[in-house]
Amino acid sequence: MTKINFAVDHQQSVFHNPFQNNELVTLPLEVRTDPLTGHQSVFNTALEGKAQILFPDTDYDYMAQRAEETVSTCFLCPEDWRSKTPAYPKEFIPEGILEHGQAALFPNLFPVAAYHTVIRLGDRHFRKLDELDPDLLADGFTVALDFVRRSFEYDPTMRYPTLNINYMLPAGASLMHPHMQILNSPTPSSHHQLLLDQSRRYKKENNTSYWTDLVNEEKASNQRYIGQTGDAHWLTAFSPTGYNEVQAIWPQKQNFLQFTEKDIRDLSRGLSHILKVMHSMKLSSFNFACFCAPLNEPDSDEPEFACFLRLVNRQNVLPHHRTDDYFFQKLLKNELILNPPEKLAEWMKENFPAS
Ligand SMILES: [Zn+2]
Repeated sequence: MTKINFAVDHQQSVFHNPFQNNELVTLPLEVRTDPLTGHQSVFNTALEGKAQILFPDTDYDYMAQRAEETVSTCFLCPEDWRSKTPAYPKEFIPEGILEHGQAALFPNLFPVAAYHTVIRLGDRHFRKLDELDPDLLADGFTVALDFVRRSFEYDPTMRYPTLNINYMLPAGASLMHPHMQILNSPTPSSHHQLLLDQSRRYKKENNTSYWTDLVNEEKASNQRYIGQTGDAHWLTAFSPTGYNEVQAIWPQKQNFLQFTEKDIRDLSRGLSHILKVMHSMKLSSFNFACFCAPLNEPDSDEPEFACFLRLVNRQNVLPHHRTDDYFFQKLLKNELILNPPEKLAEWMKENFPAS
């Protein structure tokens, strides 16, 4: 018997439509509730296929123009960028900054957590979503996880790391230059806390891990399951928290300290594929956050939490873009579904680089 409740409430909206001779129309609505967090999202069938209206395609000429205009003020671009980046105290990181391949990690000048880093991804100021190749991403995740380990060893109260990306200006990035951000903090963010609390509740009630159950059920039903790269399972969210939410789950990895080089490569291959498909959908902007269990939890064969990644698209890069975060998202904390998660999974499955 299934333990996970994928709840859908069917509602109707009835009104006279002046664009259909004032006839009385009935629009079916589907209200989905996330089985773990209770987060709601709403699918109005009348909006299906209307993503173009709410998320017009990227204007690539404008994007290239913005890239040209911002090169001269980008502190990650000049050849001597190393002389302009902040550095960590020598007793923490003797090298000051961490480098691996095309990636370099250094402190954020405007931190929002005790440990808040920026990771410069390569020399190129501007990359479209199909240009974030697995090698570049893997270099970034390698320094990210090295930093998570070092900051935890240096200060064991730093137990709540997250790996994050704001990609392009509509996603909140202040730089077009590709970069990641790592937070490590003695306290979890609101959402991280919610995920931990609800995962603990589920484990207590069912004596199994929500994340293992979710992967097993999604894989079996095959409606939203995309594929597997190594230990990472990729799927679309049943009740998305943003436009086109894609998730990855590592049921056997409780925290980032357990990630191997292979895990990093598998994450990077999967992520690069997802971003390529998004590029083919004329999308150009996204937010990404990857969570894990507190770092000093004892290892367990059946952990209550698992490493978990959310990726959502944001408004595309185009002049005078309209926000995608209105009262419905920002204050009611609900989300719209424009592409049904089951269709999105079909698009993502094509050519998925499964292991
Ligand atoms: Zn740059």
